[in-house]
Amino acid sequence: MPRVGVLALQGDVREHVSMLEELDVNVVRVRHPEDLDGLDAMVLPGGESTTIAYLLNTSGIRPVLEEKIRAGFSVLGTCAGLILLSSEILGGRSDQWCFSALDVAVRRNGYGRQIASFESPVEVVGIGSVPGVFIRAPKIERCGDDVEVLATLDHGDGAHPVLVRQANVWGCAFHPELTSDSRVHQLFTDSL
Ligand code: GLN
Repeated sequence: MPRVGVLALQGDVREHVSMLEELDVNVVRVRHPEDLDGLDAMVLPGGESTTIAYLLNTSGIRPVLEEKIRAGFSVLGTCAGLILLSSEILGGRSDQWCFSALDVAVRRNGYGRQIASFESPVEVVGIGSVPGVFIRAPKIERCGDDVEVLATLDHGDGAHPVLVRQANVWGCAFHPELTSDSRVHQLFTDSL
């Protein structure tokens, strides 16, 4: 069984853990750099990207994870997790860093603020329609040539990618862990 970590510094950690526990994987909460030892993959949850970025630094996880991602370690970032994996943050805090692991530019709160949060079905390549929960979601405004788009959504201003993959690095603008549909997680763990 693959060992899949959930970055457990801030955000909706428990929901990802529960969803992964439904699949055929061993789930590990990652709070320290040594928790990454022996993992086959990891999920970066939604939450507050500036807070998670800060805690990645103070915990010492940032350089270890950075190196692992470069070496091909599989990661799935949802919402704030996507922001952390991206190459460019639009509308971010001026000191906000990102892993530059996924060649996309994301706009923080690109679909509007908390009050503009919404749900919409999302058509995912290979699995069909899944429920999409968008909470202060980042909008992918640019996608590099090496990025595979697995789902797009038109929320009134043209279609934007909402689930993407560049080799071992996956990014999801919505929150599959907040529904009872585990097929996005399954798609990720099936790739391991
Ligand atoms: N807008 C949040 C951020 O910038 C992300 C929201 C979320 O993860 N639900 O961190």
